[in-house]
Amino acid sequence: MYTVFFIGTAGSGKSTLVSALYNWLDDQGYDVGVVNLDPAAEYLPYTPDIDIRDRISARKIMKQFKLGPNASIIAAVDMVVTEAERIKEEMEVVGAPIYLIDTPGQMELFAFRQSGAYLVQKLSDVHSLVVYVADAVYVQSVDGFATTMLLALSSRIRFKKPQVLVVNKADLLSEEAVANIAQWAEDPDILLESIELPRYEKEILRSVANLGGFIEPIFVSAKTGEGLDKLYYQIQLHYTGGEDAQ
Ligand code: GDP
Ligand code: MG
Repeated sequence: MYTVFFIGTAGSGKSTLVSALYNWLDDQGYDVGVVNLDPAAEYLPYTPDIDIRDRISARKIMKQFKLGPNASIIAAVDMVVTEAERIKEEMEVVGAPIYLIDTPGQMELFAFRQSGAYLVQKLSDVHSLVVYVADAVYVQSVDGFATTMLLALSSRIRFKKPQVLVVNKADLLSEEAVANIAQWAEDPDILLESIELPRYEKEILRSVANLGGFIEPIFVSAKTGEGLDKLYYQIQLHYTGGEDAQ
């Protein structure tokens, strides 16, 4: 069983991308399972094989414990942990060789609280991969690019899994913007020349970049399907390459 987790900031397009990649793989005849781990999702663009909302719903928690919307989402995401064992069992029953796993909208609840790392560990079999989904519109500025790379790095430290970085919503980017982003990843000096930062922060960023902290992005559009083949190629490469950090 190969598990592929989709993480990223709210609205970056995790759920839409899971849906697009699922459809793309399904069209090609691949057997793929989809798991939704977002207990606060109001709407999903795909039909999950396993849906945490069948067991935990942020909306129900809000009513039951008289919590506000934010507190109920935090409580709900934390509670997903209690279902980890059963989700894993259900995944074994469904028996798909590869699972796309959609995670809570707000990345910090999944990545920077206890539950996310535990879930990734628990639901990872021999092979697993994290797909970091960044929003193209945000990444096209130098600040947006730099902070995205640092966030992706933070999540790598958190999950300790191999990771690929996807720039989603590429349909909204000009050719020039795509070229810029690709160039910043390839040659961080160009980014460092144009980013305005106090000296110390710039040197930290330079160190991170020089040590390989900027990952080469894969440009995709969950909307048009552009780049899904490249994304799948990378997913497959990590599987066959046996690069899992486990
Ligand atoms: P999530 O919070 O990361 O799961 O984000 P969603 O999948 O719910 O998407 C957030 C918004 O971005 C929705 O309105 C989507 O229709 C939109 N969106 C997602 N992917 C794309 C894309 O590739 N291109 C464009 N233009 N919009 C997208
Ligand atoms: Mg979502």
